[in-house]
Amino acid sequence: MKTVHNFNAGPCVLPKQAIESAINAIRDFDNTGIGILEISHRTPGWERIMAETEQLWRDLLNIPEEYAVIFLGGGASTQFFEVPANLLKHKAAYLQTGVWAKKAAKEAKFYGEVDIVASSEDKTYSYIPKNYTIPTDADYFHITTNNTIYGTEIHTDMDCPVKLVADMSSDIMSRPVDVTKYAMIYGGAQKNVGPAGVTFVIVRKDILGQMERPVQTMVDYRTHIGDEPRNNSMFNTPPVFPIFVMHETLKWVKELGGLEAMYKINKEKAELLYNEIDRNSMFVGTAAKEDRSLMNVCFIMTEEHKDKEAAFMAFAKERGMIGIKGHRSVGGFRASIYNACPVESVQALVDCMKEFEAMNK
Ligand SMILES: *Cc1c(COP(=O)(O)O)cnc(C)c1O
Repeated sequence: MKTVHNFNAGPCVLPKQAIESAINAIRDFDNTGIGILEISHRTPGWERIMAETEQLWRDLLNIPEEYAVIFLGGGASTQFFEVPANLLKHKAAYLQTGVWAKKAAKEAKFYGEVDIVASSEDKTYSYIPKNYTIPTDADYFHITTNNTIYGTEIHTDMDCPVKLVADMSSDIMSRPVDVTKYAMIYGGAQKNVGPAGVTFVIVRKDILGQMERPVQTMVDYRTHIGDEPRNNSMFNTPPVFPIFVMHETLKWVKELGGLEAMYKINKEKAELLYNEIDRNSMFVGTAAKEDRSLMNVCFIMTEEHKDKEAAFMAFAKERGMIGIKGHRSVGGFRASIYNACPVESVQALVDCMKEFEAMNK
């Protein structure tokens, strides 16, 4: 098989050992003689996987007992309306740092007043707005910690005067997070913790059940939080296979040494690529330096070399780079270097950029 380097933005590269486990589990899950795609989700072996998966989340992110960890379907996009359905009484505040943030705010408008406290749309979301005021009468403040399309990231866990809700779809498990700063964290699994098909929700239990308006059973987070501390997410059939692969992916993160170790590796990988972008005379980064994402690295060709964009794309493709085309709103290139993207792939892309520069001297 040809060596390829997968920089897809999501779904994306997963740890090799998680893929191997998944293949084996499809053949035979837990020595049952039945594959993971065919078992009942009431099988004891499965209940153990569910409990272990939740425990891996709790251990890796240091999630306190007051928080529930649940796994749902529907993707992060479904959370865009489930969040306000469960939490928005009168008004919510949103930080508009990209189209995902904008889409989240749009759904909140179905439930109440939405205050966009700041937006970086004026500069194609190439930076994170800094000076804004969060209204203290808002039911919650919603942020998108990593802006997958534009390559910007909020690097710290902010202090917030109201409940802080974060879409962490594309940077969850990439660094240690102080969960206690958040009322809720959610995201689709397909960027850093597994394949598409499962959505994670971490929510402080005491903020739920305060709505006057009725909340549909499936939308109400309490439905998915079991009475037993380790009996969550089994109200209806959970996405069994994606959860299994998430379990294997998080085991890999734990074996690497947890989030401190993961963070260190991610910083090294990002630095390697950003250093080359800054050094190379043909390329320039699109995101404000202080807001550069460790997960999605966006860059374009300098004005002088604009005409060579297609040539670089073809050159990189020839050398096995996959998924480096930038989103159409930013143009140029985007390399998504999530947790499971090996440093060898980042190095291969850097080498490719160096060679291309040498060829065009
Ligand atoms: C990919 C992405 C989404 C959308 O996720 P789905 O699971 O496809 O709905 C939302 N927010 C962010 C930050 C993303 O990167």
